[in-house]
Amino acid sequence: MPELPEVETVKAGIAPAMEGQVIAQADINRPDLRWPFPENMSARLTGKRVLGLRRRSKYILADLDSGETLLIHLGMSGRMLVSGVKVGEFHHPHPVPAKHDHVVLHMENGARITFNDARRFGAMDLLDTATQEDHWLIRDIGPEPLGNAFDETYLVERLKRKNSPIKSALLDQGIVAGLGNIYVCEVLFRTGIHPARKASQISAKRIASLVPVIREVLSEAIAAGGSSLRDYRQSDGELGYFQHVFQVYDQEGKLCVTDGCKKTIQRIVQSGRSSFFCPQCQR
Ligand SMILES: [Zn+2]
Repeated sequence: MPELPEVETVKAGIAPAMEGQVIAQADINRPDLRWPFPENMSARLTGKRVLGLRRRSKYILADLDSGETLLIHLGMSGRMLVSGVKVGEFHHPHPVPAKHDHVVLHMENGARITFNDARRFGAMDLLDTATQEDHWLIRDIGPEPLGNAFDETYLVERLKRKNSPIKSALLDQGIVAGLGNIYVCEVLFRTGIHPARKASQISAKRIASLVPVIREVLSEAIAAGGSSLRDYRQSDGELGYFQHVFQVYDQEGKLCVTDGCKKTIQRIVQSGRSSFFCPQCQR
């Protein structure tokens, strides 16, 4: 499942083909993905210029000159493919139509943006740009972890009465936007906090220490995503998923990477999801 850095990478990959460009034709090949598509979706996209692309949590938002914003969510298996006329660095040959090509945007510059999703947990919607923050998928989302509203004071205040494990608290999208399982595991390892420790029992100083580390881990992953985009240029690699080496995530049984630590990484299940941690370095 793509996390925030992967979504940021996808946004960067499709931006050169979309930004400033008019959608000449929009093929909507089925009535729904996870939820029904908005009414008259094709007509509401056709002839509209994409003013710019943004990301909010794990959603890609394309602002149109019609006053509407196209919301794109990749879900579990959604992919954005850029084909047709080569615009930007990311491009690969893609026969149209292919299986699971649910939405194809033909841009006036000759580029094609295809949303392909075998499992159909993805979503697309059109929302009023002016009131987008009220949209039901967006209104309850907390601040962006890389934005100014997310800082030490905010996180300490939000977590001081949380009796849930710190792992669950950081996965709570109402507290901070877009943090997923993989990066929370990495953040907790780097800050030496055990994933099962109750948030309210962790000192304010240690909670505050999470903020710069969250920014660091996400920024590193976004940078890695950018380089994977370039690496994929020669292949028919899929936009949205890249290999990234993690220190604890999916490293069960491997020796901890901390100097002098002889323990191995352990896995526990919290709220149905795996947590990976070092029992020596994380308390
Ligand atoms: Zn260790």
